[in-house]
Amino acid sequence: MGESTAKVIPLIAGKLARPVTLNALLALRAANRVTDTRERALHDLRISVTDKCNFRCTYCMPKDVFGPGYKFLPQDALLTFEEITRFAKISADLGVEKLRLTGGEPTLRRNLPTLIEMLAALRTPAGKQLDLTLTTNGSTLVKQAQALKNAGLGRITVSLDSLDDAVFKAMNDVDFPVADVLKGIDAALAAGLGPVKVNMVVKRGVNDHTIVDMARHFKGSGVIVRYIEFMDVGSTNGWRMDDVIPSAEVVRRISETMPLEPVEASYTGEVAERWRYTDGSGEIGVISSVTQAFCNTCTRARLSTDGKIFTCLFAQEGVDFRTLMRNGANDDDIAALLAGLWSTRTDRYSEIRTADTAKERKVEMSYIGG
Ligand code: SAM
Ligand code: SF4
Ligand code: SF4
Repeated sequence: MGESTAKVIPLIAGKLARPVTLNALLALRAANRVTDTRERALHDLRISVTDKCNFRCTYCMPKDVFGPGYKFLPQDALLTFEEITRFAKISADLGVEKLRLTGGEPTLRRNLPTLIEMLAALRTPAGKQLDLTLTTNGSTLVKQAQALKNAGLGRITVSLDSLDDAVFKAMNDVDFPVADVLKGIDAALAAGLGPVKVNMVVKRGVNDHTIVDMARHFKGSGVIVRYIEFMDVGSTNGWRMDDVIPSAEVVRRISETMPLEPVEASYTGEVAERWRYTDGSGEIGVISSVTQAFCNTCTRARLSTDGKIFTCLFAQEGVDFRTLMRNGANDDDIAALLAGLWSTRTDRYSEIRTADTAKERKVEMSYIGG
């Protein structure tokens, strides 16, 4: 570890994180694995490539907060493609195998296919390509799906909260029609970005009456709908427990007309609980971060648009790696800090959530990446 850059770390990280020693780092790299205080390995990196979005989903970027006067990050605050790729490579050397690009709306980041090409060229120490995915609101897929695929994107998740136009427009709050998202999903399928997953955030009294329609529409199509419990991310979405429809209720409501049975998780750390139709026509998923916390298998780190690492979606603070990178730190310095941060990680917010913690100030999901 170079002496000059090693000095930088304590200044930037403050009390938040302490780098591991070079010897410890070499051992972790050799094992290609770093675990936290609960033996959870660092396996996934979610990368927010922009904090901007063309939607104003009421549960994510409510208009009264993210209005015309809202100050998004200036261009020079954003990690460059080179910085993102460098960080992803350093993470892969410590065991990350899966990258998800998100935001904000990731497809609004200029020249996104170029970043995808750079990330698709990365390899794990065992020579494997990283699993490269993207979550999008689908609004630009008609134009961009093929370019994303050609650049090396593996799969895609599209968010769509209802098939009822009035309900969807009220939720995205910019009058964006359902039909255009469906066209985006078709474009993704045609480009070979399947199997496509569709994320539906369920909010009581807002779109829960459209749960079954959504399931029926995609049943048998190969598209997997995943129902997400409305979460208290950030501090602007006015979350209340009463607004959450427990996943068990989602499964029950669908099963009444289209019987479902549980499916084994495909890997440890899988966020969605899987259910398949008993008639063999496909499956759905439920993401129950409120009613059935899955912190014990949480293997995800989040890299914010401006280069901070958050080890939990509900964190209040992140650790700044951008300054470190821009101050000339070498890869060992960065890896040592990341390993130090992860190995002391204790996060388990969803296990300890209460009405009071839900009111605490947390970072916004559009900035940290969903
Ligand atoms: N703009 C892209 C999109 O909407 O797919 C990517 C970013 S978005 C923050 C990622 C995912 O987080 C979306 O599926 C969105 O529905 C979900 N999300 C946002 N706020 C949420 C909340 N309060 N509770 C549950 N899911 C939420
Ligand atoms: Fe934008 Fe996605 Fe948030 Fe909706 S959920 S406001 S599309 S970032
Ligand atoms: Fe992971 Fe934090 Fe969510 Fe728990 S609350 S699953 S630690 S992101």
